[in-house]
Amino acid sequence: MRLSRYFLPILRDTPKEAEIASHRLMLRAGMIRQEAAGIYAFLPLGFRVLQKICAIVREEQDRSGAIELLMPTIQPADLWRESGRYEAYGKEMLRIEDRHDRDMLYGPTNEEMITAIFRSYVRSYKDLPLNLYHIQWKFRDEVRPRFGLMRGREFLMKDAYSFDLDFAGARHAYNRMFVAYLRTFARLGLRSIPMVAESGPIGGNLSHEFIILADTGESEVFCHRDYLDFQVPGPDVDFDNVADLQAIVDRWTSLYAATSEKHDAAAFAALPADKQVSARGIEVGHIFYFGTKYSAPMKALVAGPDGVERPVHMGSYGIGPSRLVGAIIEASHDDAGIKWPEPVAPFRVMILNLKQGAADTDAACEQLYAALAAKGIDTLYHDVDERPGAKFATADLIGIPWQILVGPRSLAEGKVEVKRRADGTRELMSPATALARLAA
Ligand code: ATP
Ligand code: MG
Repeated sequence: MRLSRYFLPILRDTPKEAEIASHRLMLRAGMIRQEAAGIYAFLPLGFRVLQKICAIVREEQDRSGAIELLMPTIQPADLWRESGRYEAYGKEMLRIEDRHDRDMLYGPTNEEMITAIFRSYVRSYKDLPLNLYHIQWKFRDEVRPRFGLMRGREFLMKDAYSFDLDFAGARHAYNRMFVAYLRTFARLGLRSIPMVAESGPIGGNLSHEFIILADTGESEVFCHRDYLDFQVPGPDVDFDNVADLQAIVDRWTSLYAATSEKHDAAAFAALPADKQVSARGIEVGHIFYFGTKYSAPMKALVAGPDGVERPVHMGSYGIGPSRLVGAIIEASHDDAGIKWPEPVAPFRVMILNLKQGAADTDAACEQLYAALAAKGIDTLYHDVDERPGAKFATADLIGIPWQILVGPRSLAEGKVEVKRRADGTRELMSPATALARLAA
């Protein structure tokens, strides 16, 4: 992409309304624009990041055996009357009346709808296990939308729903998602820690929030330090192997980790002092087994091998891709701007022509740009006539992992400078070497 033909509305001034780094940086880098409190437009650069995050989320959901579909944002209220949640859900639900005076709502979540879909088609244990997910906008009229995408009113969610005949099956479904989440967050460049979360009236321990440690996080969290060094399961993990998955989950739940709601001060105090991590965290995912909470009232029944019909066991599993855009920035930035982890970077490489309009730098940049494109590397070419200082500032602000600086002096010696945004290291090399390096 040539910057001269792109839409990247960089703000030079720090927006006053933004309280935390990720919100500030997203506004300054021209990634998002607020349209109403907690409601944002994704501008091209921000949309690229969101799509990269969704692609990774999707790959790991698919790998674990979940199947993608797409449910609508608008739902009929009658569905929610069946589960009893239409009245129970508070002011966070956006209630809408259509022209025929029918009660509708903008979905804050999809348990009811997926249960209705399931019961329309599935009657037998032979069609189980099943896990259906979608990535769709949600609306929750949060009392205090804040921190940009972190707590929005309209936000994107990946929500998956599992269906099993019994608790043993449901636990395996839960473990699949548990491991898929560990892998997803690791691939996004984040270290997530599963923490015991409130599981409501059903009890049991089958509810975990996946938390990223960050000073600006809204949750107060406590965990064992060793979690920070735990190895995440590789891509070859066998999601059908019940015992293997249980062993991974057992290991990842063997040490203390809880959010403030489930905090056990005495158990935490019993850890060696140097292993106690008391910090703030961002909830990026939440997995939850809730048994027959919806299937019983909504009569989503399946017949077992004995022919007896019973309510199906369900779980739900959420990830917030739009919140993750902010969470990743919170975890990875400096005073100059964002430092994108490569897997989610909007572009992998940025070419900075330090003397736009000079024959030699222009030619070298064009050649590099064409060669990178030929190798399928997402590249942003800063071809606008601006001073080098301004180009450096833009490049650091938007956080592209690799910058290629093409200036007349180095070029006279046949060199360009390659700068790595993550640690600021710079290295002079020939354009051919730079290409080989970045294509690796
Ligand atoms: P929170 O405790 O932060 O209010 P929640 O427990 O209500 O979130 P869930 O219903 O578990 O959220 O939603 C699943 C995921 O959706 C969360 O882990 C989070 O990543 C994302 N999410 C929830 N609420 C928001 C929001 N207001 N803005 C952006 N993302 C959100
Ligand atoms: Mg939650």
